[in-house]
Amino acid sequence: MKFIPALFVLSCQNFVVSLQLKKKNVMINIVIFGAPGAGKGTQAKLLAEKYDFLHISTGDLLRQEVELQTPIGQRAQAIMNRGDLVGDDIVVPLLGRALELRSTLPDPDAALDPWDVERNGAPHRPEGCIIDGFPRTVSQAQTLEFLFSRLKRKIDCVVAIDVPRDELVRRIHERAAISGRADDTEDVIRHRLDLYDQQTTPVLEYYSVSGLLATVDGSGEISETIGRICKTLELVMHLKAKH
Ligand code: AMP
Repeated sequence: MKFIPALFVLSCQNFVVSLQLKKKNVMINIVIFGAPGAGKGTQAKLLAEKYDFLHISTGDLLRQEVELQTPIGQRAQAIMNRGDLVGDDIVVPLLGRALELRSTLPDPDAALDPWDVERNGAPHRPEGCIIDGFPRTVSQAQTLEFLFSRLKRKIDCVVAIDVPRDELVRRIHERAAISGRADDTEDVIRHRLDLYDQQTTPVLEYYSVSGLLATVDGSGEISETIGRICKTLELVMHLKAKH
């Protein structure tokens, strides 16, 4: 019985925070991080829906290019199928374009911020943005900072979903059996895990030093993990609304 009023108070608080952020025209920018099998894509989609964030996934952007067999897609396809990282010359312009399409930045007097999207025939301003799959190297982290600074935005929080190696391997077995992705075979995913350890783990240290990193336990069910991420994000939103 006590639980329901507590939930009600919490959701009212979130509503107030959201209103405060909207009033100040402030967007929350988040990077989501996780090894293959950690569930970052799933969590990013759920969070984008829950908080009305734009979701920009470099993996999705690349897969779209591959599907359309654009020159970029043709260059990226074999690299992705092997489970290697595509070059910055491929992925950075794609991300830059996705960000700029939604920016170039807010003319405070303009009725429509270029990050606005259309919803039901009317302009709609998302509450923030969630970047999934980028950065994967320290050099990409510096590039992301540069891209955001050009847009006069900054990253508010980097959420790292932490899953023990054994559990990642177990999920990979499962995923390899059902996924249609060419880079989801067991060997390729193991290679992607090794690359993550070698190239992407140092990015966590980079964000830890800058004080932006929040690590959440992702070893349980999707609903448990998202609950933990939401607690973190709501704190970030609360702090941002106050400033
Ligand atoms: P994901 O959907 O994030 O697992 O990404 C799928 C594949 O796309 C990766 O294994 C890489 O080959 C490629 N990819 C996605 N994001 C990046 C990135 N930031 N840098 C290099 N390659 C990337």
